[in-house]
Amino acid sequence: MSAYISDGIIEKISERTDIVEIISEYIPLKKAGKNYKALCPFHEERTPSFIVSPEKQLFHCFGCGAGGNNFSFIMKWEKVSFPEAVKMVGEKVGISVDTSSSEENGGISRREFYQINETILCFFERCLKENKRTQDYLKIRGMGEEVQSLFKIGYAPLSANFIEFCKEEKFPFENLEKIGLLLPSQKGEGYYAYFRERVIFPIFTPEGKVCGFGGRVLDDHHSPKYLNSPQSSVFDKGKNLYGLNFTKEFIKKEKSVILVEGYTDLIFLYQIGIRNVVASLGTSLTPPQVRLIKRWTNRVFVTYDQDKAGISATLRGIDLLLEADLEIRIVDLPEGMDPAEVIEKKGKDFFIKKLREAKEYFDWRINLEICRRSSLTVEDKIEIVNSLFDTLIKVKSLIKIKELISEMARWLNLNESLLEMEFEKFKGKEKVTIPPEFLKKEEAYTETEKMLLQLMLNDEEILKIVKEKWNTENFVNSSYRKIAQGAIFLAEKKELSISGLINCLKDEKLSSIASSLYLENIPLENNVRKQAVLDYIKFLQKKKDEIEKEEVLKKAVESEKCGDEEGAKKWWMKYNSLVRESKIC
Ligand SMILES: [Zn+2]
Repeated sequence: MSAYISDGIIEKISERTDIVEIISEYIPLKKAGKNYKALCPFHEERTPSFIVSPEKQLFHCFGCGAGGNNFSFIMKWEKVSFPEAVKMVGEKVGISVDTSSSEENGGISRREFYQINETILCFFERCLKENKRTQDYLKIRGMGEEVQSLFKIGYAPLSANFIEFCKEEKFPFENLEKIGLLLPSQKGEGYYAYFRERVIFPIFTPEGKVCGFGGRVLDDHHSPKYLNSPQSSVFDKGKNLYGLNFTKEFIKKEKSVILVEGYTDLIFLYQIGIRNVVASLGTSLTPPQVRLIKRWTNRVFVTYDQDKAGISATLRGIDLLLEADLEIRIVDLPEGMDPAEVIEKKGKDFFIKKLREAKEYFDWRINLEICRRSSLTVEDKIEIVNSLFDTLIKVKSLIKIKELISEMARWLNLNESLLEMEFEKFKGKEKVTIPPEFLKKEEAYTETEKMLLQLMLNDEEILKIVKEKWNTENFVNSSYRKIAQGAIFLAEKKELSISGLINCLKDEKLSSIASSLYLENIPLENNVRKQAVLDYIKFLQKKKDEIEKEEVLKKAVESEKCGDEEGAKKWWMKYNSLVRESKIC
């Protein structure tokens, strides 16, 4: 079941949107000449190859090939269908689109999931207003009303009350189960609420949609102390950073982020005016979270609780930050205290002091390794070196590695060049990383088809020439063929536009190819383009004839082999006429 949206509406929405505005809601864009640049959100990279063109209203990544118009971006980012993407963009510009499609997730779309979460969030907020005990609890803990309302903190009541509300709202219970708000009862029929008698911290996507909830018990004797929504099609703990929707602009402004573990840590910091913060929602960072951080800044302050249980998870997470080439500083907090407690018990100034004293990661690591041991014998030193090499190997910059080795040498009182040699040896033992697969060089034929298509997309006069002199059916590359046919179809209706073509293609791969053809520079001056097109067509025609000749020859020989005299005669005649024709040309 797929929804139909009229071309008129799609066009109207396109006209009102600016791709730069749309994309900057998701990732920070930097002006670069007439275009904008960013680190591509769809693949891991360290230098930006993601381009947004306001002039052409297109985006394209020259690293992974992702590209298209504003709808393609939303489809790819939000993982929604074309109609849903149109609807979402429409909402942003105040044009409502009626789609009654709900093809995903066995009957409900992500949009509906978000809507349910939104309604439940309001319910939890109301419940907090009616629950004196929880209000008092928050007050005692020092969580002011301002942050309570900004972070939309709520309260999950008893299971029966929650179920009653869901019945009133007429939410299908299977859907509530799918997003982890209800659990099937273990004793036979019915359901019970996932969050019961907990303070609720809604979890938002970086764009500010409610994707899940976190709940904390009021009474520390109950367990688990913290409970997050289970994994669902809208909620993946490992792909989200709590608070980013509120703090991304501060992170950008401060050019750094403070990484904490829990929602309360973040809220307390926010409350005292430290706002460039995100919470990892768990002890160990994941690669998608690191990518999310890297989109906003290159400098990370890690403030994890340094008690013994947490340390190995912390180190694993830090290794990921290192691999992503981020600058890391460790904020040493008093043992067993998380940032929320530090602020509660020691105050804002103490925390800021700790932040200022934050050690460069490697210094902190060396120090940690030394402090862990009671002695510093040669064996100890070897152990430390090996453990640090494990981390060092993840650092990408050679200059940085050299610097860190020299630091190690100083701390451990070892010979620097010896240490460098040891590191080379250590690297040799490691698995060699597979070099990036080199793209096969496109053959001359495909390359010519591409040039022809690029020229016709950029100039309607050329498009007319191609239409007259070259049957688009002849495009051997099926993607190019579809794009060329789409362009001609729209040109005939006098409706050819970049965005229109991408909408008409609808397919993600085709949209990416089309956007790259529009955004890549044409390596030909204007005045020679028409002649070039004629040359290309001639070249393609020649190749096509050669292929046809070969095929006819093959058939003639085969027919002879099978003893099919009749057939052989027919194919030989055909072959001879083809040879004659090619001689005339
Ligand atoms: Zn990319």
